[in-house]
Amino acid sequence: MYRSYGSSGSGEIVGIIITVIIVLVGIFFACRELMCWYYKINKIISLMEEQNNLLKHQMGISPTSAVHIPSADDWVCPKCKNNNRKTALFCNNCGEKK
Ligand SMILES: [Zn+2]
Repeated sequence: MYRSYGSSGSGEIVGIIITVIIVLVGIFFACRELMCWYYKINKIISLMEEQNNLLKHQMGISPTSAVHIPSADDWVCPKCKNNNRKTALFCNNCGEKK
């Protein structure tokens, strides 16, 4: 059947191989989506990112995080001259941005 076009036989084989590869990639992505959905991976990742953001936010501005040992990496607030830890994005005292 594939030989009915004569010399175009090898071209057809390449076409079939490409089609098979595309189908396999499609099956792979379908399975991947199914796995992500089944184990709620996308939801877990978004929840973890939210937790990370909340933790970073808290580290930066919460007054309860005031207990820390001063180090050379600390930065001084330009507004109130408070000594803030390296990881803080906002001043621990007045909330000024780093
Ligand atoms: Zn400050």
